[in-house]
Amino acid sequence: MKDYDVIIIGAGVSGCAIARELAKGKLRIAVLEAKSDVCEGTSKANSGIVHAGYDAVPGTLKAQLNVRGNEMMEELSKKLDFPFRRNGSLVLCFEEDAMSGLEELYQRGMENGVKELKLLSPEEVWAMEPAVSRDIVGALYAPTGGIVCPFGLNIALAENAAENGVEFYRDHKVTAIVEQRPVWTENPPAKEGRM
Ligand SMILES: Cc1cc2nc3c(=O)[nH]c(=O)nc-3n(C[C@H](O)[C@H](O)[C@H](O)COP(=O)(O)OP(=O)(O)OC[C@H]3O[C@@H](n4cnc5c(N)ncnc54)[C@H](O)[C@@H]3O)c2cc1C
Repeated sequence: MKDYDVIIIGAGVSGCAIARELAKGKLRIAVLEAKSDVCEGTSKANSGIVHAGYDAVPGTLKAQLNVRGNEMMEELSKKLDFPFRRNGSLVLCFEEDAMSGLEELYQRGMENGVKELKLLSPEEVWAMEPAVSRDIVGALYAPTGGIVCPFGLNIALAENAAENGVEFYRDHKVTAIVEQRPVWTENPPAKEGRM
């Protein structure tokens, strides 16, 4: 394998997003993926929800990035041409005793800077979504919540990174990383993967 300034292990959504971002500079970058293609790990098997940001603990980096990432998704989807819809999300509550939990999520969301977050009565929910159960006692509505095609997002990030010079090695599992000053290397080097 050639020398690179940055080697990213894993071509899931995280690895491909990092590769794409770093490719904006002048670095030589490679992504090493154990499986035969990008988006073969958790990133291919999730619910595709672009969370609004009411769940993350206030003050954490996760909370900050969740809200900012949500805001960025629409523009990114247009730029990279992957399916995304800001259809909003509802957290439904079925028991009076659990309403305090819903209020806690609302407070967290407000602290995290989630826009237009609302606590809704059952009647307000049914007016929006008539098929929702008649057993609910309240709901948290986040208009900024959305859904994305997880494969579309991951593949678009990888394609854009590749267009900008990132090299992908598939079927290339990293088994060891050894410091051999002034570089780091795989030891033993993995079999050359397919680009
Ligand atoms: C059931 C479920 C539902 C979810 N729903 C949502 C949701 O709705 N919204 C949301 O935002 N998040 C959701 N998540 C979380 C989200 O899917 C993950 O946070 C995200 O996919 C993690 O991406 P990743 O790139 O870090 O990991 P992965 O997608 O797992 O990528 C890691 C990659 O690294 C490769 N790899 C591992 N070891 C090596 C090695 N030694 N050498 C080379 N390659 C290696 C793997 O093959 C894999 O391709 C959900 C998760 C689950 C499990």
